[in-house]
Amino acid sequence: MTKPASVKDYIRTIVDFPHEGIMFRDVTTLFADPRGFRMAIDQMLHPYAGERIDKVVGLEARGFILGGAIAHQLSVGFVPIRKKGKLPGTTISQDYKLEYGEAIVEIHDDAISPGEKILVVDDLLATGGTCAAGIKLIERLGGDIVSCAFVVDLPDLGGRKVLEGLGMDVHALCS
Ligand code: 5GP
Repeated sequence: MTKPASVKDYIRTIVDFPHEGIMFRDVTTLFADPRGFRMAIDQMLHPYAGERIDKVVGLEARGFILGGAIAHQLSVGFVPIRKKGKLPGTTISQDYKLEYGEAIVEIHDDAISPGEKILVVDDLLATGGTCAAGIKLIERLGGDIVSCAFVVDLPDLGGRKVLEGLGMDVHALCS
């Protein structure tokens, strides 16, 4: 019997993108496949059955695709965390370190109410810098983070340890 496809089977690797020496894990092939996409959303939701989640926060940009589908499935609202200058309303900002330089992410200052239970969603966890910055924004607004959910964890880059060090529960479908 052939083994049923797993989420990992739908992800392709693009060599030397966006720079030479980088193996980019491309989840657009997972999103493009109806079975793969549904499998990913169902599996990302699985650990939270019976848990209270008031809002899903997605990290730009692939976290919007996953987070939107997850929020729809949970019948809760979706909140984007975006790169600086993209959100139209009043925002709060958080900077974080990249391999070369710095980046800034933002959230609308009225997007989360104190005490709301938040699920954070992105496609991939590498160093954890992006998600850690998102966590700071959510916590500054008083959100209570239930968990951070990813499709892929790259364990050699240490992101899980960074997020767990911030007291986060972390789930990924594959590594
Ligand atoms: P980190 O901040 O954890 O180092 O990097 C994670 C962020 O960069 C995520 O928002 C993710 O979308 C993006 N990212 C970094 N490397 C990859 C990759 O190989 N594949 C994909 N799909 N996203 C990546």
